Amino acid sequence: MDEVREKMKITAVSGYKAVGRNMTGVSIGKETIAIDNGIRLDTLQMYDGDTNTLRKRSVEELISMDIIPKQDRLKNIIAQLISHGHLDHIGALSINKPKVPIISTHYTAELGRKEYKDGNFYSVDYNEEFEISRNFSVEFLEVTHSIPYASIVVLHTDEGDVVYASDFRLDNHSQISMTDYKSLRRIGRENPKVLIVESTRAWDPGKTPSESVVRIKLRDVMELIDSGLIVATTFSTHIERIQSILDEAEKSGRTPMIMGRSFSGQISIAERFGILHLPPNARVFTTSKAIKRGLKEIRKRDDYLLLATGHQGEPTSVISEIINGKFPFRFRRGDSIIFCANTIPTPINYATRYILETRLKSLGVKIFDNVHVSGHAAREDHRYLLNMIKPEHIIPCHGGLEMRSGYATLALEEGYELNKSIHLLTNGDSIEI
Ligand SMILES: [Zn+2]
Repeated sequence: MDEVREKMKITAVSGYKAVGRNMTGVSIGKETIAIDNGIRLDTLQMYDGDTNTLRKRSVEELISMDIIPKQDRLKNIIAQLISHGHLDHIGALSINKPKVPIISTHYTAELGRKEYKDGNFYSVDYNEEFEISRNFSVEFLEVTHSIPYASIVVLHTDEGDVVYASDFRLDNHSQISMTDYKSLRRIGRENPKVLIVESTRAWDPGKTPSESVVRIKLRDVMELIDSGLIVATTFSTHIERIQSILDEAEKSGRTPMIMGRSFSGQISIAERFGILHLPPNARVFTTSKAIKRGLKEIRKRDDYLLLATGHQGEPTSVISEIINGKFPFRFRRGDSIIFCANTIPTPINYATRYILETRLKSLGVKIFDNVHVSGHAAREDHRYLLNMIKPEHIIPCHGGLEMRSGYATLALEEGYELNKSIHLLTNGDSIEI
């Protein structure tokens, strides 16, 4: 008797209504693979502004607050895969506490362990096929993003491959990572059943610039600043950006003082992996006490570059705390601040950044904004990836309907059909393909 072939089911757990708290399920028969398990940062910030909320509240509350994914939308999970180490992809691990193997690249597993100490982490090299069960094996392909060791996750099954590309950009001039075009083309030639793809910037025309553009922008700004303290701020996970800031500090003869808990955690892992090299005179300050001590050392302001947390104006960041008088140190006229970050486009971030900038201006601090390029693919990057993979089906993920419909229109341009080969799901929806 012929074996009855079981269909593949994709479940949009969350990340399909708004940016953040990403989680997708792939099921065949009685087995389900969960991909990513993230938090939504802007809703988290609406309550406490930091991760204390996560510890104080129940899973049910955090789901209803739109902070974590509703993991029990997936039945019979046999493995948890993680695409990369951003909190909107790993931040809910410590709350949902998956008991199954958690599989990722080595670097991402290190970041995962930091979040979820009791997790059962397995880490693999890029391109190393890991057999999960009779139905599934997984392969992680190298891709450029704004964090080291990001991956495009490929689930190999008898029904065809599931390619999960969230998040990525195509940067051919990165100094610490690359995109594995050769393997992506191989996947395209094999049996690509479905592409699940992020869509945060699918409406943005053209191509996302390379990180090398930020290096030039930063140098340009630094050469303009001839005196005063320089404060730089960026995402603590963005190791290549941090390296550029430290390199420019070294070139300008300034001592880098790195301040904030999130920086020190990321930096120590990146140093261990040999992808971040601190200048010999760089100093890292983690606790409030240490930061206070560090700030006291700053006498001749022209000699220092402060790399500190606070690019979104977060109230508990080092920059906001300095402004709020927590430390015996003041910013003053003639100092400069370089935002090596954009404002994350949510109302709460616009508000906190507005407050921060207004207060900095009133102190006479010069502001250099948006020394930054996005970590996410723009429309033509997306088209390039789509044409390498040429999947049977497309499911845009990571974004509200307005973003995912941007990807859908791109796929229409490439000959796909809405509701036949392009599927716009919302949180909680499943589709059999
Ligand atoms: Zn990301």
